[in-house]
Amino acid sequence: MPNRSTIEDIYADTLRRNPGEVEFHQAVREVFDSLGRVLDKNPQYVQASILERICEPERQIIFRVPWVDDAGQVRINRGFRVQFNSALGPYKGGLRFHPTVLLGTVKFLGFEQVFKNALTGMPIGGGKGGSDFDPKGRSDGEIMRFCQSFMTEAYRHIGEYTDVPAGDIGVGAREIGYLFGQYKRITNRYESGVLTGKGVTWGGSLVRTEATGYGAVYFTEHMLATRGRSLDGARVLVSGSGNVAVYAIEKVQALGGIVVGASDSSGAIHDPDGIDLELLRDIKERRRERISVYADERGGRVKFLPGASVWDIESAERIDVALPCATQNELSEAQAVKLVAAGVVAVAEGANMPTTPGALRVLREAGVLFGPGKAANAGGVATSALEMQQNASRDSWGFEHTEERLSEIMAGIHERTAATADEYGVPGDYVVGANIAGFTRVADAMLALGVI
Ligand code: GLU
Repeated sequence: MPNRSTIEDIYADTLRRNPGEVEFHQAVREVFDSLGRVLDKNPQYVQASILERICEPERQIIFRVPWVDDAGQVRINRGFRVQFNSALGPYKGGLRFHPTVLLGTVKFLGFEQVFKNALTGMPIGGGKGGSDFDPKGRSDGEIMRFCQSFMTEAYRHIGEYTDVPAGDIGVGAREIGYLFGQYKRITNRYESGVLTGKGVTWGGSLVRTEATGYGAVYFTEHMLATRGRSLDGARVLVSGSGNVAVYAIEKVQALGGIVVGASDSSGAIHDPDGIDLELLRDIKERRRERISVYADERGGRVKFLPGASVWDIESAERIDVALPCATQNELSEAQAVKLVAAGVVAVAEGANMPTTPGALRVLREAGVLFGPGKAANAGGVATSALEMQQNASRDSWGFEHTEERLSEIMAGIHERTAATADEYGVPGDYVVGANIAGFTRVADAMLALGVI
């Protein structure tokens, strides 16, 4: 088993080089666990040290972000951009603003992004960035000044042909607007393709907002179809109540599913009769209030579970589908055991790496259809690539056409992932299928481009 020991040596090296970055280690481990078979079939990857190279970002940028709060106090945050791999195209991936963000967080997200982006079949490399800035409770003026300061450093590292950031947790159209405004001011260029997730009146794409959630639901439908099932009449749990969760809920409902739970950082709601999405959006998006308000206003059989996650909901009824759309490592092993007991048939990751390794093991052993984030949530970045296409041709497409493209892309990702799993002798294993299909596309491009 020479390739197994190669993989273990490279993994040990990755741990040594990136001490304490546990999420990054987890993401690398999960990909490496799929790659033994690939190295056996492709000795050229070993010869060219593709694995070693793919774990080492091409460039990592860490910078100080000073800004002034509303009280006149100077504040300091740390900014990051990890430019992971550009074999397939400019670095592409979001920015996350959250107080827990460390270099290791950005590295794990950037690493995942490389394979996810490759899997879309589109010409985009992988990168990620962000800051430990906490937008919670900050005024609009504070958010703007922070974004301007972030971009005052970031602008020199990005560009339409170099690196194209977008949103992630804590970064939506408002933040992208302030970032783009500052980029435009510093460079004196209306370079639309430098950022995606822009507003539709100034270079953004229709469907980009909906894309991650919609895409995850399309992927779930494709997985369910392999077992002759669908979302029609399915009972569904969705964690989170941000952009991904909201549009996942919308699409599940449009396809006849009943979403019985959602959450935010303050707790979870259980609504056995099906979530009233209009009310949820009004509370979370317009009023920016806690999710407990939903329980107060909806009444009926709704329960609020303070401090809990949707995976803690004790439901007398079965749960068919689970869509973790909140954040990394949110679904524990014990919670996965509970989901299996509730009858879950399919789990698809709307968030990045929301399933812990223990939970993943439980779900796979139970034969649950499992769509990893690299495949299931790739609709967001794929639609960002569509936004880049529109920007490059100075065009803007209609909603239906763009959604049609998204739906074709998700069908393609499902097909590629399932076919790769078949080819490597693990039919129905979307984790292995996604890792191998993403990896080989990047690896082949790296081989073609020489030692870079
Ligand atoms: N942050 C999203 C992701 O995790 C989207 C990135 C993008 O659109 O570039 O894939």
